[in-house]
Amino acid sequence: EGGMERHAYDVVVVGAGGAGLRAAIAAHEAGARTAVVCKSLLGKAHTVMAEGGIAAAMGNRWPEDNWEVHFRDTMRGGKMLNNWRMAQLHAQEAPERVQELEDWGALFDRTDDGLISQRDFGGHKYARLAHVGDRTGLEMIRTLQQRTVQLGIDVFMECTVTDLLKDPSAGSGQAGAIAGAIGYWRESGRFITFDAPTVILATGGIGKSFKVTSNSWEYTGDGHALAMRAGASLINMEFVQFHPTGMVWPPSVKGLLVTESVRGDGGILRNSEGERFMFNYIPEFFKAETADTIEEADRWYDDKKNNRRPPELLPRDEVARAINSEIKAGRGSPHGGIFLDIASRRTPEFIRKRLPSMYHQFKELADVDITAEPMEIGPTCHYVMGGVEVDADTQESAVTGLYAVGECSGGMHGSNRLGGNSLGDLLVFGKRAGEAASAYAAGLGDARPTIAEDDLKAAQASALAPFEVEGGENPYTIQHDLQQSMNDLVGIIRTGSELEESLREIEVFKERAKTMVVEGHRQYNPGWHLAIDLRNMLIVSEAIAKAALAREESRGGHTRDDFPKTDHEVWGTKNLVVTLNADGTGVDLHDKPLPVMPDELKKYFD
Ligand code: FAD
Repeated sequence: EGGMERHAYDVVVVGAGGAGLRAAIAAHEAGARTAVVCKSLLGKAHTVMAEGGIAAAMGNRWPEDNWEVHFRDTMRGGKMLNNWRMAQLHAQEAPERVQELEDWGALFDRTDDGLISQRDFGGHKYARLAHVGDRTGLEMIRTLQQRTVQLGIDVFMECTVTDLLKDPSAGSGQAGAIAGAIGYWRESGRFITFDAPTVILATGGIGKSFKVTSNSWEYTGDGHALAMRAGASLINMEFVQFHPTGMVWPPSVKGLLVTESVRGDGGILRNSEGERFMFNYIPEFFKAETADTIEEADRWYDDKKNNRRPPELLPRDEVARAINSEIKAGRGSPHGGIFLDIASRRTPEFIRKRLPSMYHQFKELADVDITAEPMEIGPTCHYVMGGVEVDADTQESAVTGLYAVGECSGGMHGSNRLGGNSLGDLLVFGKRAGEAASAYAAGLGDARPTIAEDDLKAAQASALAPFEVEGGENPYTIQHDLQQSMNDLVGIIRTGSELEESLREIEVFKERAKTMVVEGHRQYNPGWHLAIDLRNMLIVSEAIAKAALAREESRGGHTRDDFPKTDHEVWGTKNLVVTLNADGTGVDLHDKPLPVMPDELKKYFD
């Protein structure tokens, strides 16, 4: 392509969700020439969909709350597989990051004393989620976006990054360091290159690899795959969070999220026999802090000091498994879910004020009035704990100049993420990554890594390959089959034989993808875009299935029917690490000891 569009920056951020925008703001404020690239319109990132809130131990409702309690909750929620340093930094810095959002104009709901209101969520000992009704992500994105635009940071929207580029020249001293990225404009199909010594991946999750998901079309694991192809590693990929409450009806909206705030605000789960069944599913690990009678559970909402929390507010993995078991045992709702009831527990005024989006969502999509009748809900693929392995303090990956932050990074949440801890994660580590990347770029002086022309040509040829095929298969059918296969074989309850079958199926999908064909031209061509995304979805799906097969225990978001116990001795001390294999056709797996927690933090887990 003659005269390709080309730009030079110090820091290129891929992704304009909370993580990407916060990173870009930090990089810009540290003096770096910064660009944000995102594949949809600015403001449309996944973060906008976040409902419940941002977890931060501000102590506004419960003065007893502090970073130590938040740290402990996060580690226990992740079943101790979290990177302790990330969990610590997150708990310590989240309050400041929320306060800063307010300074930048975010309007949070208030307590009676005029402080930022904080609501209850599963796994958090105290009411801790700063929120704006059930539309917190919208306010967060609005605030960060406004600041990004005010600061004059360059934004390239509807522009998809397809490859990262590294300096290949052995003599330059920069060999193997990030030199830039290449992508295409979705509208024109034309390529664009960024020359930059740092790239911050903030591309979000992988949910579109599963059929039933709360995630949007953008979640195809691009950052995960880009990082692996550049030589970085992923950790914790076997841990996928299935949120307990997604809509199950009508079919067109199956998987759409029903916020955990419904339970935080008093909603309970019932089976078809009307039984409040969560009391039957309290695991040993959480017995001491969970109410075992309805009376105590109900008293907790008003008196948290003298009562233990309701079992509906156990961490998500526990609740999702319980719902799954009730449905399997034949006690499900008419459309294959379970009942979530807030109507019989709170006044219509309370429900409409606290949960306005949920009220409208059910009214408009399912013709259900949640102030008068129960909702039908079931588990839905929601979040990936796994992601790019990074340094806890800087978010840098194993590749010099490559950083990852937000949902596409790994480690912070261990085997299971607590609700509200993602939005906090985006802010805390977004800022850290932006600062670290700009400091590294500034230190380079004129000795910058450079992109090789051959690599640029190869990246373009690879992106255009589907146009060269004649008579092959359409990417939509492959995507459809992959989603079904992941849902059926790598879903909420797993077994060795099904995981082996899924890996065999993924090999077949990979073969089929070699000859997939796209129709038409490069101008706005969704079929072509999907063909490019599908490469990423396939490699990421393989990473998930392979890690899930290797981990022969159940923990957090990973449940093995054939290994139902949590095996602390063998599996509680190590992470599974995934890298691209030598010929780039699949993934390799090895394990790595967990970073050792210092004694002064160990004391919280006696
Ligand atoms: P995103 O916000 O998804 O942003 C990803 C960005 O990357 C987008 O701009 C996208 O265009 C861009 N991108 C992706 N690939 C490419 C590419 N190849 N080239 C260029 N750009 C690319 N968490 C909480 O803590 N509290 C909540 O209350 C909460 N509620 C949720 C409700 C719903 C319905 C969902 C789905 C999630 C919720 N979560 C919540 C989780 C949380 O919202 C996400 O984990 C978080 O927003 C992810 O932010 P991010 O910045 O990492 O990615």
